Amino acid sequence: MSCPFCNPETIAKQKIFETENEYVFYNLSPKTKGQCLVVPKRHVEGVRELDAEESASLMRTVGFVSEKLDGYLHPAGFNYGFNEGSIAGQTVFHLHFHIMPRYVGDGVEVSHIFHRKPEDKIFMTDEEMRPLAEEFRAIF
Ligand SMILES: [Zn+2]
Repeated sequence: MSCPFCNPETIAKQKIFETENEYVFYNLSPKTKGQCLVVPKRHVEGVRELDAEESASLMRTVGFVSEKLDGYLHPAGFNYGFNEGSIAGQTVFHLHFHIMPRYVGDGVEVSHIFHRKPEDKIFMTDEEMRPLAEEFRAIF
């Protein structure tokens, strides 16, 4: 089987916990101590392939694992997230949710994908926001 997250060898090596619907893997290349992946057992590539129950189950497991890591490692914070598609940095094409504990002085830069550096922040005016909000309200 070519998918590493469906491969029994990966599961045997990296699995630290499992639920009915997910495996929790210790990251093979962790940036910080405790970095884990929550991986649906069903092979899906992207978040839109999960049904409502699978999505809810995954987030319950993310919360549960995060609570365990917090109690064990006492990090100062966490980064959480999915990468979907090569352009977004997905390298294993089986959906996986990253949980990265963060520590003071851990040397990992805050991701600027969703978060601008304070000196780069430019907030839209009401006039700039209004047409964008209208445009995107219309897609729902
Ligand atoms: Zn897979």
